[in-house]
Amino acid sequence: MTINIKDIKGVGPKTLEALQRHGVTTSDHILQIFPKRYVHYFLDDIEHIKKGKLMKPPLLSRHQVLKISFKLEVEGQILSCIAYQQPYLKHVLEVGASYLVKGNFDAKKKIFIVSQLKPVRLENQMVADYDLNDLPNYRLQNILQTLLESPIKETISKEVLDKLKIIPIHQAYQGIHFPKNEEEVEASLKRFKLEELFHLFEGVSKQKKRQHLHFNQPFSIKDQSSSLPFQLTEDQESIILNVLKDAKEDVPLKHLIQGDVGSGKTVVALLIAYYYIAQGYQVAFMVPTEILARQHLETVRSLFKEIKVTFITSTIELKKEVENDIAQGQVDLIIGTHILASPSVSFHKLGLVIIDEQQKFGVDIRKSLIEKALDQDVVYLTATPIPRTLLRSILGDAKIYTLHSQPKGKQTIKTISVSYDALLKIMDQLQLALEHHQHIFIVVPAIDSDKVTYNIMHTYHVFKERFQEDVYVLHGQMSKLEQQRVMDTFRKQNKGILISTQMIEVGVDIKTATFMLILEAEYFGLSQLHQLRGRLGRGQLKGICYLISKKPQDQRFIILENTSSGFEISEHDLYTRGPGDMLGLIQSGQPPFKHIDYIENLPLIQEAYQVYNEVKNKDKSV
Ligand code: ADP
Ligand code: MG
Repeated sequence: MTINIKDIKGVGPKTLEALQRHGVTTSDHILQIFPKRYVHYFLDDIEHIKKGKLMKPPLLSRHQVLKISFKLEVEGQILSCIAYQQPYLKHVLEVGASYLVKGNFDAKKKIFIVSQLKPVRLENQMVADYDLNDLPNYRLQNILQTLLESPIKETISKEVLDKLKIIPIHQAYQGIHFPKNEEEVEASLKRFKLEELFHLFEGVSKQKKRQHLHFNQPFSIKDQSSSLPFQLTEDQESIILNVLKDAKEDVPLKHLIQGDVGSGKTVVALLIAYYYIAQGYQVAFMVPTEILARQHLETVRSLFKEIKVTFITSTIELKKEVENDIAQGQVDLIIGTHILASPSVSFHKLGLVIIDEQQKFGVDIRKSLIEKALDQDVVYLTATPIPRTLLRSILGDAKIYTLHSQPKGKQTIKTISVSYDALLKIMDQLQLALEHHQHIFIVVPAIDSDKVTYNIMHTYHVFKERFQEDVYVLHGQMSKLEQQRVMDTFRKQNKGILISTQMIEVGVDIKTATFMLILEAEYFGLSQLHQLRGRLGRGQLKGICYLISKKPQDQRFIILENTSSGFEISEHDLYTRGPGDMLGLIQSGQPPFKHIDYIENLPLIQEAYQVYNEVKNKDKSV
């Protein structure tokens, strides 16, 4: 039963205030305050723990510091004790009762300095330490004890409890707050982790039935792809075939297509889009930057001339007209930035949402766009995959397809980690590359910050001096129009050096790019560096990526030198940096996990997901 905290026995005004400061308003909240650590009172730790009987009432002195002195009889001898700044001991200590004291013996003064004191019933036990500075442990423990005297409503079915060998809720709270040993804490924690997971599964896997869309118009991938300038890889073709088949099932698409940078996800997405368009629906293709949106627009215009495509960002001219076209169904494929998710854009018959580089978008933006689709069909594209097992169990019913192979002709990229000493020699190579009509990217972490030497400003001067009119600059403080102009010119010139911030990380596709220099490389994350170097090797030419930093031996750079698989890299990244924004995909507005650790608890997550599905499917069949 949930009780308001002010009605709980033992909660006085001061405690009430302290609890409220911690955002606690109900008895359930109190139970959910978990200890920060446990203090052990095992007597074999003989140096630091003594057990003895209190001989006389303690003496309190407030001379400079608050000090309580008392004497314990320990195995027939008298132990003089002093506790500093623990006034409550005055009220706790009872003459004749036995206590455990934890502390250190000051041999010079022959005094035991007490850091903690506990009743003897805690002998050989662990005690929870909540570490709330305005609420002493003992006060919280008193309240918890009271709460645990009443029954607590179970939230997990008996069947699941049995299947996963989970302890009941009451026992679990008991084990968290008043454990007898480590095993009890473990068993209790497991229960709360699973509760958290089940909550998540409920949230993400509410499978909706297909309601509105119909797929009965003829469509042949062979025909549509025969006019492409290249042949689809086997992976690409089989993913498309599978997705088209999935679309006809009685549940909407909720798919993730993952593949390394340059693996050819765009054309896969476009053919899926084409299929929906052929059925009479619109498709929205959301990308993280305006540059990428324009690039996709060009791709569509050159590969699929028949598709009625438009483009919308917050800065385009004639936005109202474009919005009208979209609302009235004059256009079938709408490529755009996050503006697609805003209320000003409404669709005529939106069948499918494609979200490129999904990890770049917040949960809310993705959700608002997806909710505009008739059946909420969505395909996510990502180059920074979450380990398959993890994603599958947490995304619930989402299907995952992976592009394993790179399209033929995709060149390998050699990655070399060097210090700034190498810069002059590298410049000679760049000179040669320019003479061969190639393009070069230089990426730096900041525009004008003086935290780094190689910001845009400084780098520009350094390279301008040597390469003059071949140097271009691109960064986020330029107007969108200016950015666009720079990209267009850079692309159209038969050679050039583009200095930019990481804004070229995503999507920029220049087939004659051969070199990339990443300066101040230590400022970039592992996956980010991998993504950046993926701008190379897009055509027939090999690429070389120089990671330039003060610490060329950094483990992350070594990983990049030796690994070309984005999957391996993002797994490293997961370990070195934590799952970060990759997990944005799955946290549909829920608070972050309190108990689950994505890496450590992977087996538990999988087991829980399996049982969750077993139970759910059984419920359905009844
Ligand atoms: P990403 O998966 O990183 O989004 P893209 O879709 O941008 O990769 O594709 C990278 C490049 O590979 C593009 O220039 C695209 O035209 C080309 N490409 C895609 N599929 C094939 C293929 N089957 N054969 C040859 N080139 C391909
Ligand atoms: Mg892409």
